[in-house]
Amino acid sequence: MVKAPRGTRDLMPGEIEQWQFIEKAAREICEIYGFREIRTPIFEHTELFLRGIGDTTDIVQKEMYTFDDRGGRSVTLRPEATAAVVRAYIEHHLDSQPQPVKLYCLGPMFRYDRPQAGRFRQFHQFDFETLGSHDPAVDAEIIGCTWDFLTSLGLTGLNMELNSVGCPDCRPFYTEALRQHYRPLQASLCENCRVRLEQNPLRLLDCKVPQCHKLAAGAPVITDFLCHVCGSHFEKLQEYLRLLDIPFHLNPELVRGLDYYTHTAFEVTLEGLGAQSSLAGGGRYNNLVESCGGPAVPAIGAAIGLERVLLALEQQGIDLPLPETGLIFVAAADALSEPLNRETFCLLMELRRSGYAAEKDYAGRSLKAQMKQAGRLGARWCVIVGPDELKEHKVLLRDMLLGTQISVPRQGLLDLLADMQNREAG
Ligand SMILES: [Zn+2]
Ligand SMILES: [Zn+2]
Repeated sequence: MVKAPRGTRDLMPGEIEQWQFIEKAAREICEIYGFREIRTPIFEHTELFLRGIGDTTDIVQKEMYTFDDRGGRSVTLRPEATAAVVRAYIEHHLDSQPQPVKLYCLGPMFRYDRPQAGRFRQFHQFDFETLGSHDPAVDAEIIGCTWDFLTSLGLTGLNMELNSVGCPDCRPFYTEALRQHYRPLQASLCENCRVRLEQNPLRLLDCKVPQCHKLAAGAPVITDFLCHVCGSHFEKLQEYLRLLDIPFHLNPELVRGLDYYTHTAFEVTLEGLGAQSSLAGGGRYNNLVESCGGPAVPAIGAAIGLERVLLALEQQGIDLPLPETGLIFVAAADALSEPLNRETFCLLMELRRSGYAAEKDYAGRSLKAQMKQAGRLGARWCVIVGPDELKEHKVLLRDMLLGTQISVPRQGLLDLLADMQNREAG
């Protein structure tokens, strides 16, 4: 028996309804905020991620599903969405359209990571990006969309952490100060951090190893090193967030693992979610489009981890409303009767072609067993045909909620169903 690969799972009927619900909520909030859907390929040339994520990051160094295809080209399953969205923006010359361009995507991402609760090797993200604006209001909009999406699902206790990671003008002064702080402490750092110290000292701040985490406490903070442009961008953003009543707190250790971030970085965490406390995160990446070979276009984006969101909903005991099926079950009083089966099959298809969800039995069950099956499927109504009904061109219509049953002329069935549906809707 071959099982699903470690770190992946099947999303089965019964839980898929929750996925459909949050995906629908994601699409709705994007419509409200003016993001349009884009679907990029699941795999890209490996080079895109080397350039677009940064080759000193954990993602690129340890976590990518990279392989040579049969033509000998190195390809990689997308570990995140932004790089591909940026590639598509450049490839389709979206910079020649009115700016900003606002895009969203929903779908699976792939990282070779150690699986645990809320962390999978194939996981799903809701990602949205705004390209082509420097305006801090756009940063506030991205954060607002993240916040509104999560709170609209009913989640509470969310923590919005905010930082500025500076820009290429001011960050070098900060990274130098960091190196000076850490160099005398080098012997106490973990092995990874000793490499990071020279390659990407910002990453020292979010190392999860306890001894490194302790040393981060005394480190210089980036907000003391921001240039005038970065400082005023950060101030305006905070002003907007206060106007939107989005509670946030400043976290100077929030640097995120990706090299292309400039200015704004944010993360939404939830206590009690265990090691995987991060639900969403994002930030501004003003240099990514250019470093991927496009024009100098500023941008900002966010990604929300859907497995984490579902885990959080479960932990907070929030039941998502399941869609009402309105299913109509068509039953034959005698499943062995050929004329009755012909009639129920015709009724079934007539109902479907009129837009009703309809189902019947295909296993020759007794009427009692068919009623049971209808209940299991959550049917709202049953249409039952017996020999008498067949003769008199009638059907029995059973209300599965009330348990009542009436005899209806066969010809009037669709009108009656439409009437009852209108009455229930109104
Ligand atoms: Zn700056
Ligand atoms: Zn470390």
